[in-house]
Amino acid sequence: REAVAEAVEQDVLHGDGPITERVQSFLEEWLDVRHALLTTSCTHALEMAMMALNIGPGDEVIMPSFNFVSSANAVVLQGATPVFAEIRPETMNLDPEAVEKKITPDTEAIVLVHYGGVACDMEAFMDLKQRYDIAIVEDAAQGVDAYFKGEPLGTIGDIGCYSFHDTKNITSGEGGAFL
Ligand SMILES: *Cc1c(COP(=O)(O)O)cnc(C)c1O
Repeated sequence: REAVAEAVEQDVLHGDGPITERVQSFLEEWLDVRHALLTTSCTHALEMAMMALNIGPGDEVIMPSFNFVSSANAVVLQGATPVFAEIRPETMNLDPEAVEKKITPDTEAIVLVHYGGVACDMEAFMDLKQRYDIAIVEDAAQGVDAYFKGEPLGTIGDIGCYSFHDTKNITSGEGGAFL
């Protein structure tokens, strides 16, 4: 509330103002990541992830079939192909074995979702990353302040995406972060 009042008083209500900088620095220190950029949504962070990884026509990106639409849309926007893999019923999270079966020479990335803040099996996914040389994007929209073996969700793969939507763990109304 103090920060909202300060932003209103300073008349800096757009992004990249002094409070944005403070939040970004806070995220970088708290999460121990090289860069944290605030975005207007997790959807936008996922779109930025696909751009940052140069995903384009002919590329395939594997993701869970049980998911919010943003990650599939981010892939389609780049002209690439989303490939859906099954989840594990006990965690509702992407099944690494189902993912491995979907890997082809065109696979460039996996977008995994930490459903309900429950961590994916990150050891299995980092192993797939090493063996197949593919990027790991963590959709940690629901995973702020949740952890895999002590590591904050969103900081283990190559890129992490957070949501600060009203329905999520921490909110700014609408908002997100690109880690
Ligand atoms: C909410 C959510 C998003 C989208 O977040 P926005 O900030 O609303 O764009 C993406 N992925 C998952 C898994 C979500 O739960």
